[in-house]
Amino acid sequence: MKNQSSTHKKSLGIKYTNSRDLFETGKLSYEWAVGMMKIITKITDKYRKTKPLANFKLGFCLHITKETSVLLMAAKALGAHISICSANPLSVQTDVIEFLRYNEIDVFAKKNPSRLEFFANMIKVAESNPHIITDDGAELHSIVHKQKIKGILGGTEQTTSGIFRILSLKSKTGLNYPIIGVNNAKSKHFFDNRYGTGQSTIYGLLKTLGILIAGKKFVVCGYGWVGKGVSSCLRGLGARVTITEVDPIKALEAHMNGFDVQRLKDTLPNGDCFITCTGQRDVITQHDFDILKNGAFLANAGHFDLEIDVGYLYAQNKQPVQLRPYVESFDIKGKKINLIAKGRVINLVGGEGNPSEVMDLSFSNQLLSILYITKNYKNLGKDLHQVPNKIDEKVAKVALSSFGIKIDKLTREQIDYHTKADVTY
Ligand code: SAH
Repeated sequence: MKNQSSTHKKSLGIKYTNSRDLFETGKLSYEWAVGMMKIITKITDKYRKTKPLANFKLGFCLHITKETSVLLMAAKALGAHISICSANPLSVQTDVIEFLRYNEIDVFAKKNPSRLEFFANMIKVAESNPHIITDDGAELHSIVHKQKIKGILGGTEQTTSGIFRILSLKSKTGLNYPIIGVNNAKSKHFFDNRYGTGQSTIYGLLKTLGILIAGKKFVVCGYGWVGKGVSSCLRGLGARVTITEVDPIKALEAHMNGFDVQRLKDTLPNGDCFITCTGQRDVITQHDFDILKNGAFLANAGHFDLEIDVGYLYAQNKQPVQLRPYVESFDIKGKKINLIAKGRVINLVGGEGNPSEVMDLSFSNQLLSILYITKNYKNLGKDLHQVPNKIDEKVAKVALSSFGIKIDKLTREQIDYHTKADVTY
């Protein structure tokens, strides 16, 4: 009987409250994701027997999603001991936590913790004697540096803003261990940041607001990889998209891609929905709120909840009106301003994060980079390193074959044509 009602609830997509049910949905989510993550499955199968991570403790700080559960289960199958905390207080999927705990992974996270709990959980991972740190946003890297945690052999970093923070850490204090910038692998950011975040931002918008996108005036702040993905997905759904930029090359690129390019302040009175994708802070601030159109929606798909000045909004309205889950309306000088997902990453908080197929590329780079560190940490300087080209290309190759795509090879003559520059034709 219990099973029947549980299956019924599942078919209705109802949220669960007891941990057995949560475990079941977490397991289903894992199975759904792993079925689509063919690259990481292939890598796991290759090393399942030899268990090259058997003597390693891995400390993760990632968004706790079904795709992350696939990465962790893969590392576990390779023999690793694992602890994890969340890279964001709201991007945690509770069913995934239950599933991971059942599989003996130490999870220090819960959804919507206090600020204190959130950082206490990071410290627990920092203090779990990890050999390798895998982070999204470099918060954990910063903590282990500040606390001078010993025994770390190397680390990896998942996201663009994390790379900037590591570079700043490097210039301020130096790095205590080598870090591989997984974000910068071509097979990561060309796809995850662009197509992944593009699509999952739309999903977050539809899930939270459910509004018609066609014909609406969207303003996308920033035309990096995320901004490119978000704007092209919006355009695909018929939105009227304006880009704001500070970089002349990117602005020109947006213009030639057929987007309207303007200064932010010129878009404020007309835009229906603003999406920040910059990785910067203070993109839409107090003075901008004064000019915004009444009823405008604000969302962030970039990095922290600093892109939109949410601090000011909450200081003005301690208890904004909750319009829908993750949609709050602020009354600012008699005008309604609607904030989505508290200004935190809309794709992970309002939606489910990037789709599994694209996270497969990113997390295969992560797993191969972790394996690379275990073999090469002694020779890698305490610096920020690129993902080795061999790994980057291998991930793309396996991805192509998993999609059933074959490509051509250069002939001997073609290779020579490029490599022997002294030959004249
Ligand atoms: N750490 C910042 C924002 C970075 S979010 C914060 O918490 O606010 C961007 C990163 O999230 C990307 O590099 C992407 O790889 C990762 N991400 C997106 N979808 C994901 C998913 N389904 N599972 C795990 N990580 C995901």
